[in-house]
Amino acid sequence: MESPLVALHHATKSFVDGKENHRVLNDIEFSLLPSSSVALTGASGSGKSTLLNVIAGFEPLTSGELHLDGQNTASWKDPQWSRFRHQQLGVVFQQFNLLTPLNVKQNIAFPLNLNRRSWNDWCDHLVDTLGISTLLNRHVASLSGGQQQRVAIARALAHQPKLLLADEPTGNLDQKAGMEVMALLTEIASQGNTAILLVTHSLECADFMQTRLHLQNGHLTTQDLNREPLYDLH
Ligand code: ADP
Ligand code: MG
Repeated sequence: MESPLVALHHATKSFVDGKENHRVLNDIEFSLLPSSSVALTGASGSGKSTLLNVIAGFEPLTSGELHLDGQNTASWKDPQWSRFRHQQLGVVFQQFNLLTPLNVKQNIAFPLNLNRRSWNDWCDHLVDTLGISTLLNRHVASLSGGQQQRVAIARALAHQPKLLLADEPTGNLDQKAGMEVMALLTEIASQGNTAILLVTHSLECADFMQTRLHLQNGHLTTQDLNREPLYDLH
């Protein structure tokens, strides 16, 4: 069997709040295969961003194990984390988080520069597909929300990472722009064999992913999609 790109075993994450110990993730088992896609839903405050932060190494686990690309990260120090983030990870946030002093092309090239690589055919393909090839010299602050999120997606995927973590990437977009961005993100990630873990409130966005998980009271459950048939044949 193919080994998972991300695996969590008995993963627990607690935050100390005053004297209270607040357990946000409770004995989680999770795995994500290469090139697969998972939607993560759950109420506000249920720990979705915390789970992403744990996987990206921004928050250490309180107990349990995180394996990335088959390696137990328990012994990882800054150099291993930096290498993983620079080479294997792309991240898209709700707030776009673009580098405002830079133009569109410089933003997209940023992760390539971290890997000592430069603009290439894949980048041309990315900006063509995302419909932002005419915006490359524009300052990112002058773009619409939908355009900025397309730039953020290009930046997250420019170095063809194995893993894309997307935290409510359509949360600041209207319905139409949000669906367009989701369709593009899914298409480009699949072309680059990038696995996606998508946090979303929207069931329509979740439907772009192969599986859906729900986080509640610190536990992850698989959701039956239970889709209505598109057409009534009778
Ligand atoms: P979600 O993304 O599902 O809305 P979060 O993962 O942001 O939820 O937060 C889950 C819970 O963990 C919340 O109660 C939040 O206050 C708490 N939390 C998240 N990050 C921290 C932190 N760095 N320090 C203390 N508490 C935190
Ligand atoms: Mg969140």
